[in-house]
Amino acid sequence: LEGSRREFLVVAPHIDDEVLGCGGVLDDRFHVHYCGVEEFRIVSREARLAEAKACAEFLGFSYSVDVENPVNAYSVSRLIGPFEELLRGRRPKTVFLPYPSYNQDHRAVVDAMLTALRPHDVNPFVRNVLLYEEIQVTSWPCREDLLRGTAAQPNCFAPIDIERKIAAYRLHASQVRAMRSPELLVALAKWRGFQGGYEYAEAFQAVRLSEPSALALGTLRGRG
Ligand SMILES: [Zn+2]
Repeated sequence: LEGSRREFLVVAPHIDDEVLGCGGVLDDRFHVHYCGVEEFRIVSREARLAEAKACAEFLGFSYSVDVENPVNAYSVSRLIGPFEELLRGRRPKTVFLPYPSYNQDHRAVVDAMLTALRPHDVNPFVRNVLLYEEIQVTSWPCREDLLRGTAAQPNCFAPIDIERKIAAYRLHASQVRAMRSPELLVALAKWRGFQGGYEYAEAFQAVRLSEPSALALGTLRGRG
């Protein structure tokens, strides 16, 4: 295993989802698993990997990258096996997944991870499962939201250092866009902070909360 075993595992469909959703809490207790790397003409795969490395070094997390999954065309059945292996190898106590989204890769990752995380003899060490939130997801519904007639209902809040989060986001220089601008990230963190009783916060929705003490949400805070 690259790096020591870490208590927290973040599953990121793409490089940048980890910072958009969990950038305020990521530190050296975290491992981030990137499910794929895009290969566009304007931003090379090498540039994206370099941005991930810079971000990991800045925030302190370890990471792994699955370069086999074709970005924009992830397949649930191809993800499940490697996810089960990832869980068995790393034995995280808490797993962070993206909130289901209009993005097909995000949906595939959530579907496959919910299968890999189902209560089963081989994975009882995972005590907590949380969905993380991203501004571009919060601003548009997914199918499940439409069917339920509700939007995401975050029920866990972690205080964050918003400047540290924005600084980490800027390390993904090729991914900073108006639709997820630093200003929008600050606005969402301010709103979630208000809901959670903090100045700025990141919000999560609990799927399983079997060992809140392992979560120590109040201490899920960057130390930078
Ligand atoms: Zn993504």
